Amino acid sequence: MAEQREAMLYEKLDGQKVRCELCGHGCEIVAGEYGICRVRQNVAGRLRSLTYGVVVAVNVDPIEKKPLFHFLPGTRSLSIAAPGCNFQCAFCQNWQISQSPRTDGGVRGQATSPEQLVTAAVSRDCASISYTYTEPTVFFEMAYDTARLARERGIGNCFVSNGFMTPRAVETIAPYLDAINVDLKAFRDETYRRVMKARLAPVLTALEALVAAGVWVEVTTLIVPDLNDSDAELRDIAGFIAGRLGPHVPWHVSRFHGDYRMSDRSATPLETLERAGRIGAEAGLRYIYSGNVPGHADERTHCPSCGELLIDRRGYTIRANHLADGACGTCGEKIEGVWALG
Ligand code: SF4
Repeated sequence: MAEQREAMLYEKLDGQKVRCELCGHGCEIVAGEYGICRVRQNVAGRLRSLTYGVVVAVNVDPIEKKPLFHFLPGTRSLSIAAPGCNFQCAFCQNWQISQSPRTDGGVRGQATSPEQLVTAAVSRDCASISYTYTEPTVFFEMAYDTARLARERGIGNCFVSNGFMTPRAVETIAPYLDAINVDLKAFRDETYRRVMKARLAPVLTALEALVAAGVWVEVTTLIVPDLNDSDAELRDIAGFIAGRLGPHVPWHVSRFHGDYRMSDRSATPLETLERAGRIGAEAGLRYIYSGNVPGHADERTHCPSCGELLIDRRGYTIRANHLADGACGTCGEKIEGVWALG
């Protein structure tokens, strides 16, 4: 049964109306109604989170699965999700849980608490907790309380997010957030509006704010044939990462398999991922990885200076890690990432 908790980031307006300040939708909600995510409701002039203390998934995953390749490689991450999302992507791979408040007409899941989640992370030998599978921004209060508690117990915190967060949300969670993988799903506002029912600009703003706040950022782009796979758009994405976030930010170009309302579309050809990799390298990105293609050579981390193999991965498994104190053991080049929790 869902616990209702007053939302953290919202403004009270006239006539019991509220404005949510958590994500780029900025929903203005009258009493009794819900935000676009369907997991936040105006109850008598106060905004409530409807998913506090509710989870639809609790798993132990390798951190590589998020994907986070430059964050505590080879460690386990307690991976949790509450139901709901502020996007409605036609190609969602977790739509059964991300869209359930919309399709089921309510919030369903298992009861839990931040204390229970942190205890589970400790007892299951996890170095971090990942707020993932659905959109952590819309279960912000539970993520925030859990992250604070986890930090006290020496456990790291990672978001896997669509990045549609307000600067205020970034500023609030950043002190407790060690790493984030943001899906930069396209570089065309039209695509964000039509396919995700969202907008591009807030994602770009949040990405810059996250880097500025010192959160370790990796970016993933699921490359969908005929949606976001043109040279021009891939160049725009790679150029933004290199120019506005920094060439050290890893870019994961991930293979699409038909899903949800795009189940008729074919999988991304390998050549497309390789073309994206070349475009990323031309833009100056130091670390580019192919995703959803286990065994592909582009899962490995090489030294951007001397080319030496530093982290050998296959799928989610680390086969060898030759990093020496966060640097290339051969030429001494510093390799950006979080290799130990401070
Ligand atoms: S989290 Fe986003 S979608 Fe949900 S109520 Fe707030 S502004 Fe609206």
